Amino acid sequence: MALSKIDIPRRAQHFLECGIEDCERNCEFYCNYCHIRLCKQCRDEHLKSSGNKNHEVVLYQQRERQLPVEKCKIHPTKDVDMLCEECQVPLCSKCATKGDHQKHTFVDLEAVFAENFTLCQQEISKTHEYFLPTSQDLQKEIKKDSSEIKHIMHNIRTSMKTEGETLKSLVDTVISENMKQVDQIEYSLLEDLNTQDKTLDDYITYLNDLVKELNRRLSSTKPQRLMSEKKSKIRSIPKTTKPVIQGFTAGQYNKSDVTKLL
Ligand SMILES: [Zn+2]
Ligand SMILES: [Zn+2]
Ligand SMILES: [Zn+2]
Ligand SMILES: [Zn+2]
Repeated sequence: MALSKIDIPRRAQHFLECGIEDCERNCEFYCNYCHIRLCKQCRDEHLKSSGNKNHEVVLYQQRERQLPVEKCKIHPTKDVDMLCEECQVPLCSKCATKGDHQKHTFVDLEAVFAENFTLCQQEISKTHEYFLPTSQDLQKEIKKDSSEIKHIMHNIRTSMKTEGETLKSLVDTVISENMKQVDQIEYSLLEDLNTQDKTLDDYITYLNDLVKELNRRLSSTKPQRLMSEKKSKIRSIPKTTKPVIQGFTAGQYNKSDVTKLL
């Protein structure tokens, strides 16, 4: 039986025919020994035949894969159907009896092939059932995490900006309050100076008047007048005070002070 007839894709399995000649019934079973598809009736017939009693007939889905036929390169009439356990080399029956492999142990290559085939299928289904979906879930998780991080960072940036704007406006408020204070100090100092200026104006007027008066006395024809008039004492110069100005030192803050604030 050709291999291609056995390895029909899964989806076509429902329509598989029994492999016995002229039987068109649905195949349900498989003889692992003969590698043939069997319907229920043909299975019973098959197992009844003398010499077939020990054939392993299983459900078609649980069949063992047939070893692909490969001829030995040294003995072209022989199939490679044994495995040397010590050397892990596939061999034909003739090779097994000769040369290096004498006294080695051999196993049925078909059984090893079927077992590896099943293992491979199990690996595929494990990959589909566990490894792939788990990796995809992890990827989804990563995408979720990165969009969450973007969201968090966006919020942090917004808060930082707001905090900065608040600080700027507080600085503006404090500076404008300080400006008002400076205006008030300036006003009061200037007012004080104005008062002193006015006092001195008055005093200078007084002095000028005094000089005029004294001159008038000097030029008087009546000496009595100069004598009689009370000796005038010149009023003392009004006291003035120098304004005390508190300076302002710029450049007290640097970037790290602002960094500490924020
Ligand atoms: Zn059989
Ligand atoms: Zn049949
Ligand atoms: Zn050989
Ligand atoms: Zn060997």
